[in-house]
Amino acid sequence: MTYVVTDACIRCKYMDCVEVCPVDCFYEGENMLVINPSECIDCGVCEPECPAEAILPDTESGLEKWLELNNSFSAQWPNVTRSRGAPADADEHKGEEGKYDKYFSPEPGQGD
Ligand code: SF4
Ligand code: SF4
Repeated sequence: MTYVVTDACIRCKYMDCVEVCPVDCFYEGENMLVINPSECIDCGVCEPECPAEAILPDTESGLEKWLELNNSFSAQWPNVTRSRGAPADADEHKGEEGKYDKYFSPEPGQGD
């Protein structure tokens, strides 16, 4: 079991989650974060910290696409452990539908 970041994170990227993870297993893309499933220890402390409710346990159904995305991009993107604050327009994209198709970027983020 692991926790996964879904597309609710795209363009929100508040980064509250990275500050609480005890094993620093968040990785940063251009406009979203992912969790490395093989490093996550399933502690669950990040889930309630996310204002976008983007983090879910993989025991919930229908998360296969996001688990695969977290798995593959955590191997390509840089590690991030410190919040730099949210983008200025983050709240405009909170709760928006279909963000993966509209905005997903495979490009790496800045990292620590
Ligand atoms: S707190 Fe939520 S929206 Fe923000 S970066 Fe973490 S997973 Fe993404
Ligand atoms: S569940 Fe725990 S170990 Fe996994 S990403 Fe969240 S804070 Fe990190």
